[in-house]
Amino acid sequence: MGKDAVAQTQFLQRKDLQTLLDTLIAAGYHCLGPQVRDGAIVYDVLADVSHLPVAVHDQQAPGKYHLHYSQGLRSFAWANGPLALKPLLFSAREVLWSAERDDEGKIQFVQVKPAVQKTAVIGVRSCDLAAMRIQDQVFLEQQYKDENYQARREALFTVAVNCSHPADTCFCASTGDGPTAKSGYDLLLTELDDGFLVAAGSEVGKQIFIQLPLEQASDQQHFIAGEQALHAEQTQTRKLPQAGLAEKLLANLDHPRWQEVAERCLSCGNCTMVCPTCFCHKETEQPQLDGRSTEHLREWDSCFTQGHSYIHGTVIRDDTEKRYRQWLSHKLATWLQQFGNSGCVGCGRCISWCPAAIDLTEEANAIAGDEGD
Ligand code: SF4
Ligand code: SF4
Repeated sequence: MGKDAVAQTQFLQRKDLQTLLDTLIAAGYHCLGPQVRDGAIVYDVLADVSHLPVAVHDQQAPGKYHLHYSQGLRSFAWANGPLALKPLLFSAREVLWSAERDDEGKIQFVQVKPAVQKTAVIGVRSCDLAAMRIQDQVFLEQQYKDENYQARREALFTVAVNCSHPADTCFCASTGDGPTAKSGYDLLLTELDDGFLVAAGSEVGKQIFIQLPLEQASDQQHFIAGEQALHAEQTQTRKLPQAGLAEKLLANLDHPRWQEVAERCLSCGNCTMVCPTCFCHKETEQPQLDGRSTEHLREWDSCFTQGHSYIHGTVIRDDTEKRYRQWLSHKLATWLQQFGNSGCVGCGRCISWCPAAIDLTEEANAIAGDEGD
């Protein structure tokens, strides 16, 4: 955290966390926060901070995600669950437009706009802010803006929380996207035992910040926050190769490791579904039985499906080796050519949620020829 941010950072007692939530609700925000559902931490409607995952910790490893409980008071002592911000901004399934033939046989097209409400998400991690920045590039900064994404993005308020307990699968320190948030949030919390350091990162964030019962943060609290951040960074063991990764991957498209990993990969697409930066989708028509109307549907797709590379009667990537290679080399290499940065923010979700326990960092290190710098 820079000097200015430290100067503007204040302290919120734990007992006043509900005031933050109430202030957001009073400002008209539909509030979502992390909660335990079906054995995982996901975002759900939050009206009471007692519903946060208090004293819940996650244990993650390749192909594994478990929650366990302690006696602590902390609400954010876990890394991340399967849901990033992506489904809140880029809907997994939505109708973009509909068409109807009138009595004279003319076809009328109608754009279907989503019902969007001001939404505040509490507990966003730095890797997911970085992923949102990447999705902004995809949906807002190309030739055409995605109006649905834009409407949801403009209605979003983020309350980020610095990561103090990275999972074994996290490697955001290696990609430069965490574990502390540098920008892109409206409010930023750092959880300490007795409460939270709070900083505002935007004008709308300041409007909420000034309404909170904040106290001056002590040097000791800043020191503990700094130590916590350092510890979170140093406990991450997974790394991507640091030098020339993109070039090395693209120079090794015939590396035998692609075939080895393809023998384990199920082509299930889980990694792409949980990935906060993947944006592939397909569009299909949903004609109604009356023969007069249809809806144009957009759904998430995955580069692991056959249909995704079907072009003019041919499936271009007709086996798992080609699909896995496409996924990893796009994420870590050709994404740079396309957007000027990597497509991976080191959240580790693709590792935890892969049923075959395939680890992207292990594969990248094996193929790019080093074990991480
Ligand atoms: S590729 Fe894996 S680690 Fe990287 S952003 Fe996607 S899910 Fe996270
Ligand atoms: S790498 Fe894992 S999650 Fe991704 S498609 Fe293969 S088996 Fe599924």
